Amino acid sequence: MTEKVRSEVDKFMSGLIRRNPGETEFHQAVQEVAESVMPFLFDHPEYRKASILERLTEPDRIITFRVCWRDDQGNVRTNRAWRVQCNNSIGPYKGGLRFHPSVTLSVLKFLAFEQVLKNSLTTLPMGGAKGGANFNPKGKSDEEVMRFCQSMMIELSRHIGEDTDVPAGDIGVGGREVSYLFGQYKRLQNRWTGTITGKGLSFGGSLIRTEATGYGCVYFAQNMLEHRGDSLEGKTCLISGSGNVALYTIEKSLELGAKPVTASDSSGFIHDPDGIDEEKLAFLKDLKEVRRGRIHEYAEKFGCEFIPNERPWNIPADVAFPCATQNEILEGDAKTLLGHGVRVVCEGANMPSELAAAHQFLAAKILYAPSKAANAGGVAVSGLEQSQNSLRLTWTREEVDRRLREIMQKIHAQCVEYGRRGGDDVNYVDGANLAGFVKVADAMLAHGIV
Ligand code: NDP
Repeated sequence: MTEKVRSEVDKFMSGLIRRNPGETEFHQAVQEVAESVMPFLFDHPEYRKASILERLTEPDRIITFRVCWRDDQGNVRTNRAWRVQCNNSIGPYKGGLRFHPSVTLSVLKFLAFEQVLKNSLTTLPMGGAKGGANFNPKGKSDEEVMRFCQSMMIELSRHIGEDTDVPAGDIGVGGREVSYLFGQYKRLQNRWTGTITGKGLSFGGSLIRTEATGYGCVYFAQNMLEHRGDSLEGKTCLISGSGNVALYTIEKSLELGAKPVTASDSSGFIHDPDGIDEEKLAFLKDLKEVRRGRIHEYAEKFGCEFIPNERPWNIPADVAFPCATQNEILEGDAKTLLGHGVRVVCEGANMPSELAAAHQFLAAKILYAPSKAANAGGVAVSGLEQSQNSLRLTWTREEVDRRLREIMQKIHAQCVEYGRRGGDDVNYVDGANLAGFVKVADAMLAHGIV
């Protein structure tokens, strides 16, 4: 980065930090994009003149509201919920809902901002939003989760709609929560619309939606490897998390001949040097999706190691798929991974690498795929779910999978086009940021000052 660009990024960031005090995750997400986009803005003054980056980093609107509900003991409980509608220049707002005690406005603003560029990369007409609540579904009964979802939807329903804003799941919001939210929305509207995605298959859900983020992430890793004449076959893979994204990343990496050896949750990780095979994965799915148990049970069942309160980044491997949460790879972890010869880091979770860790991967010129490219398969199939709902049609598993693979290839091609550094070396961070940005920026320029 030249001095001129660095000083412009610093100036832009100091204004953003002043306007959004204490929102560290939001600052981090914007900084990464500003570093990629600023050189491009110098070459294209029309975007600077129209203050596109300033406008893109100020959400269209943020809704904050109280959610009251009654627990099983009859106590009244109060949570805070948000919907951050960031930008709808290229299509209706779209993005998940997160239920986790760590949810803050800063987290949702970073996720909504990332979502704008990610949705643009999918090639589908979707704007970007994100929402959620500081509600912890863990340890709650189904009835309690239902009452919370119904109460939240009473307010949220005023701000969403099939052509306005289409929420989906994220951390803590899986099939059960989406179903309760959808049921209440339908009741309030007295209309059946595809306003929420990730629905059950019997009421408008798309085949492959459950698997899409994990599958898409592995397809992206395969695309990057193929670009260098290599493949996933025989590669040892580290996976963090054991939720929706992690489980289907494990499944697809197995299918493509790789060897996944770790999985984790917030209590620690398991290391299975023999590899998580199909039978073990079936156990893990039942443990996490049905019984909602803890990861150490896997180690007890299959006689492997459980390492409490740690993440799997000190295990030597060829590929890392961080699939749990933001900032789970710190700079030191990145150095450890590189020291062990990691060749691919492909982000299933949103912003799992802190900025200094991402800089390490970029400097080492490994195949490093940022989340907005690598995990876009989830929202892409959500977009396909919306199309099927509008058409009142259901595509086959093969059809949706084919479209998903094609979309991941197109995202990869855009990253290569905008991020090529010479030869077969690609800066996927710059590529994803620029390709996502240009499409939205052009739409904003065309719309005038709004
Ligand atoms: P789930 O709730 O299904 O799973 C999350 C997993 O990550 C769990 O294993 C959880 O452990 C672990 N985890 C969550 N928070 C923490 C934390 N603070 N520290 C350690 N471990 C943690 O979520 P998803 O799989 O849906 O989402 C995972 C990531 O992927 C998120 O970053 C999400 O934004 C991103 N993503 C998800 C998409 C989707 O389609 N679902 C689409 C695109 C991105 P525990 O159970 O112990 O909390």
